[in-house]
Amino acid sequence: MIDTEKLATEPKADTFLGKTVLRIEEMLRPLGEPGYRAGQIYKWIHHFNADTFDEMTNLPQSLRDTLHARFQIKTLQRAQVEMSADGTEKYLWRLPDNRHIESVLITEARRNTVCISSQVGCSLGCEFCATGQMGFIRNLTSGEIVEQVLQIRKLTKHPITNIVFMGMGEPFLNYHRAVQASRILSDPEGLAISAKKITFSTSGVVPKIYQFTDEAQPFKLAISLHAANQPLRERIMPIARKFPLNQLMESVRYYMRAKRQNRVTFEYILLHGINDSLANMKQLISLLSPIRCKLNLIPCNQNNLGFSAPPPEHLDKIREVIMKADFPVTIRKNRGEDITAACGQLAVEVSEKVIFMK
Ligand code: SF4
Repeated sequence: MIDTEKLATEPKADTFLGKTVLRIEEMLRPLGEPGYRAGQIYKWIHHFNADTFDEMTNLPQSLRDTLHARFQIKTLQRAQVEMSADGTEKYLWRLPDNRHIESVLITEARRNTVCISSQVGCSLGCEFCATGQMGFIRNLTSGEIVEQVLQIRKLTKHPITNIVFMGMGEPFLNYHRAVQASRILSDPEGLAISAKKITFSTSGVVPKIYQFTDEAQPFKLAISLHAANQPLRERIMPIARKFPLNQLMESVRYYMRAKRQNRVTFEYILLHGINDSLANMKQLISLLSPIRCKLNLIPCNQNNLGFSAPPPEHLDKIREVIMKADFPVTIRKNRGEDITAACGQLAVEVSEKVIFMK
């Protein structure tokens, strides 16, 4: 497994987006500006979602002109937006280096969740995941992570309530930038989204689960489990060779001991004939029963990788078995399938090149 944390390819464009107030203060120092200007600019960009320096009416005109000449605000170009019949919205962004990423807005009665990307591609190569087949290209900057939410907030009519790192990439292999972005997303002077509504979903980068716990990060944790025994997990998720299932579960128990109030979420994609037998389900129940958790079962979507969802009659049998668990279980409805925005299915055609996301 590559340590992608150190492999960021920072875009050349200099932007204040995704920067802390302290960092903005440093960037303004050569201009001889007082420190308090940094806080003003930070708030205009992240809280008021300003697109231009001209909107920053409490800055002197001369400073606005200087900023306009030297810096930019938004760096993602909207390449495509697709709307599903079920209300799901899929956004394709062009990055400054001409790479592409996607974000998906899932609208529900009581919440609207943006599923964001943390990397271009992914180094972990999960068998069922189209992103994994691309390999790792680069980390996103904290600005590029924040900007996905900022731009969608402006474009959609739905108020954004929740964020999940379940788009392209493994957020724990871009840990510092994902955490910095989440601090800005949850900062009352930033996007002011409750930290409890921001979820890091990891495929099991065990040392980062310990770090996340030891740093008492206020965000939620979800584990992409997908197999309840070591041989099967190794087969479909190569990361299990480096961080075996028993180590992963021990790190989750460590997290749960530190977070007394919370439940941890496990995600389990149902791949017919691979990990969806009734014996697999029973094993899953016994693995998770000792943990305060909830389980999301996600029938696999069509994504050209040769996997399929359990047929309806088998899904009914799974439901019968799994509902006996003494923790909450949901079987997720597929959303956005008509625009290929569902989990495991996202695929974007850009100039004849096909980019896939999980
Ligand atoms: S499922 Fe997540 S961790 Fe696995 S290859 Fe896809 S993006 Fe990477």
